[in-house]
Amino acid sequence: MAASSIMAVEDEPAIAELIAFNLQHAGHHPIRAFSAEQAQSLMVDVLPDLVLLDWMLPGKSGILLAKELRADERTRQIPIIMLTARSDEHDKVMGLDVGADDYITKPFSPKELMARIKAVLRRRAPQLTDDLVSINGLKLDPVTHRVTALQSDSGEQLKLSLGPTEFRLLHFMMTHPERVHTRAQLLDQVWGDHVFVEERTVDVHIKRLRASLAPVGCSEMIETIRGSGYRFASVPDQ
Ligand code: CA
Repeated sequence: MAASSIMAVEDEPAIAELIAFNLQHAGHHPIRAFSAEQAQSLMVDVLPDLVLLDWMLPGKSGILLAKELRADERTRQIPIIMLTARSDEHDKVMGLDVGADDYITKPFSPKELMARIKAVLRRRAPQLTDDLVSINGLKLDPVTHRVTALQSDSGEQLKLSLGPTEFRLLHFMMTHPERVHTRAQLLDQVWGDHVFVEERTVDVHIKRLRASLAPVGCSEMIETIRGSGYRFASVPDQ
């Protein structure tokens, strides 16, 4: 699993410490917040890849924070795992349907927590995992940063050379195929939130990515959707 920034919103210092320790041990970057208000002020600067959210917090509750994150365009996509103290709280919070991706009852083992985080990230943000992606002979390996394309006539695996931005762009598009991404969405996902670059920059890198894919006959996998953005086509045209 690649390093992800994970915010733990937890007011009990011992649990917050345990979570941060285990996140760090697993190679993630823990961000600690002791209240919903603190979490929100930290998110003004930078968005985490995932939020672990305690239900019972001083001040604003975890449930209210989850609802607010889901209602805001900027934070809507952040995966949330709710932490509850008892199984009856667990049932209640599930019944409230706050839009969380998963729920864990305290006390939980570090192993269980890490497994849940991994599963949620794999489902919600596959571009953050180290899983090999392979579509129609085009293979991208996040561990080695290697991209290869299978040549159907010779059966050869040809290596492609991509710049770092083109690599991230291709990784995001291959893990979210068939969907149309606007330039603004691609900027958020590939360049990062709060990075002030013009939307035209996306076009420049799409052009470079297509040029890198052209020698292996894969440039047409990146489709321009007029007036909307770009799409990675996973189904080859016949
Ligand atoms: Ca609490």
